[in-house]
Amino acid sequence: MKPDDFIHHRPFLIAVTGGICSGKSTVSKWFDKNGFVVFSADKIAHFILDYPNVIAKLRDKFGDEIIRNKKVNRKKLGEIVFGNPENLKFLNGLLHPKIRAEMQKIIDFYYFKSDRPEYLVFEIPLLFENGLEKSFDLSINVYADKNKQIQRLRKRDHLSATEAEKRISAQMSSETKMKKADVNIVNNGTRKNLYSQLEKIVASLADYNYKKVVHLTHIN
Ligand code: ADP
Repeated sequence: MKPDDFIHHRPFLIAVTGGICSGKSTVSKWFDKNGFVVFSADKIAHFILDYPNVIAKLRDKFGDEIIRNKKVNRKKLGEIVFGNPENLKFLNGLLHPKIRAEMQKIIDFYYFKSDRPEYLVFEIPLLFENGLEKSFDLSINVYADKNKQIQRLRKRDHLSATEAEKRISAQMSSETKMKKADVNIVNNGTRKNLYSQLEKIVASLADYNYKKVVHLTHIN
């Protein structure tokens, strides 16, 4: 690594992304088990859905049916926004800036700390869709063939083949993600195979340079 004086004072920032059921969470869990500090954009989003001002805005927009026991009913919310571009745009406009701000807060927390971890890993499903790769030193894309994604979606979320295909085709294509990523993992095989690819990546992490990253709150 050839960090300059300033960026040397922060952890090396890794983003893990990939299509639905490619294996992102499995990869994140592996990093976590192997001693890395790992955060998830989806978990941050769930936590933000509990903010009182967010609940109020969603109730104003979508009505009381979106609330259950004073909390946002995420399943209902998903039904309202999936396949409705205007509703999805509203939800993303509300949540995304807050998610970026929370992630930046986490990164800032580790700046200049003498006992900071060497790396921070963020699992971000919509990394490339939202141009957030500019805020990380290394992007890792988890790739799985469409048939594998469908097979896993049917098993994990009990979706029909048609529904699974619909979810996949609503996303940025896997090929585009592959081109944008710094590193690709092909997760079509066994877990063992996946973990051995991860071991190789971790062994070569020191070969990657820090980048001049963009503050997450400067992305819109
Ligand atoms: P994502 O987070 O990208 O949606 P997950 O990590 O949840 O994907 O993986 C989707 C499903 O496939 C999960 O049930 C997971 O346990 C399973 N899975 C992922 N990778 C493998 C693998 N290499 N072998 C077997 N099952 C896998």
